[in-house]
Amino acid sequence: KKVLVIGGVAGGATFASQLRMLDDQAEIIVFEKDGTMSFANCGLPYYLGGFVKEKEHLIAATPESFQKDKNIEVRIRHEVISINRDKKTVTVKDHILNDTYDEHYDKLVYSPGAVPIVPDIKHLDRGNCYSLRSFKDMLKLDEHITQKNYQSVCLVGGGFIGLEMAENFKARGIKVHLVQRSQHVLNLLEPEFSNILEDELLENDVDLHLSSTVKQINEDHSLKLSDGSVIEADFLLLAVGIKPNTHLAEHAGLSIGTTGGVKVNEYMQTDDEHIYAIGDVIESVDFITGKPKQVPLAWVAHREAYIAARHIIDNPIPFKGILGTAICKVFEQTAAVVGHNAFSLEKMNLSFETVELNARQHAGYYPGAAKLSLIVHFSSENGKIFGAQAVGPGADKRIDVISTAITGGLTVDDLQTLEIAYAPPYSSPKDPVNMIGYKAM
Ligand code: FAD
Repeated sequence: KKVLVIGGVAGGATFASQLRMLDDQAEIIVFEKDGTMSFANCGLPYYLGGFVKEKEHLIAATPESFQKDKNIEVRIRHEVISINRDKKTVTVKDHILNDTYDEHYDKLVYSPGAVPIVPDIKHLDRGNCYSLRSFKDMLKLDEHITQKNYQSVCLVGGGFIGLEMAENFKARGIKVHLVQRSQHVLNLLEPEFSNILEDELLENDVDLHLSSTVKQINEDHSLKLSDGSVIEADFLLLAVGIKPNTHLAEHAGLSIGTTGGVKVNEYMQTDDEHIYAIGDVIESVDFITGKPKQVPLAWVAHREAYIAARHIIDNPIPFKGILGTAICKVFEQTAAVVGHNAFSLEKMNLSFETVELNARQHAGYYPGAAKLSLIVHFSSENGKIFGAQAVGPGADKRIDVISTAITGGLTVDDLQTLEIAYAPPYSSPKDPVNMIGYKAM
């Protein structure tokens, strides 16, 4: 069996490894258009901030190690430029030899990720603008910050990457302006939870421009914002979101879903049974509602890689859908989410109730006790948990417990019955998750 993979990072490289673990006979070739495979996208901000000292530490595997350890061929600087379904081939542009050739497949796995959305800013070409998607992007930004002696940045977008970069640029001694279109940063949080992050940003000397966008880059390189103010920044990091990188799939006539990702079934097959798609490029389903959902996160890509590999070896397990469990560090704060927020539940017209709790992450008498805010939304009809958010120390543990509870079909009342590990530095005899269960009664 010959299996070709498009994309050699989170989804693609993971798929190739999984398939090799399950099948030692398959011929596996991975095409990666850039020069680096298997790097940790999620670590890019932390290298730029100096928390990760060596860029090589972000690279989990090389073509040489894949060949030697796993008998998988990885062709870097090889870009797939078309999928030819009638012949079951892909056309590949070899950027090293400047050559083009066709390669046959029995099965094809498509994991080309996403592309950054470029915001509508007038005279964008006047500015020093960057985005952060690839290892190459990180190296370029790192080099320019040093060589051009950048002292200030305008972060356009206050989502996960914008927030992480605010902390990392500050750690590097760069002045940070953060411009966010909506009223609050990380707007998938409830507004009062976003407020906590905004206070943290302000305390750390980040200039926040909420309900605002960058309208134009002026001739003198200053930035005109939609609220009329003018700010100065040596460069811009555009972090307003991404869209699935579907162009090859579209040209090949594969179906695109309503959220803009490639449509797949529960085994990651597209509407061509020989072509699978995984990661940021696909539209998956919401675990809770069963509706189409697009979640560009690493767990999702890794899980889908395993599901596709299992199907290819004829030992399938279906994908159950996505909760959208996510977490973000903002200086000393942590924000974590799972499932739906109130806004999304209202939009779906689902009848729900909410319990909220402000507690300490561990025993109040133990040093370092700090505020942890937790909110849980659940079905008014049957108590099933629709979503939760936590901000503060220990948010990770609480959201992971609730994510597990949702996956196991528990109700909000069941949260009081969970036996959670306790000693004073970690929790309280009744953990905040238990307290939510008691409060919901
Ligand atoms: P990618 O990992 O992006 O891989 C796609 C690869 O395909 C790319 O290397 C690209 O060059 C290659 N490619 C594209 N087209 C072609 C072609 N035609 N031919 C050959 N190769 C091609 N997720 C989290 O869960 N937690 C985090 O903390 C987190 N932090 C992040 C921080 C940053 C800065 C970024 C950019 C992402 C972060 N993510 C995080 C998201 C996570 O990295 C992605 O969801 C995940 O990488 C998606 O995997 P993928 O395989 O779909 O795409």
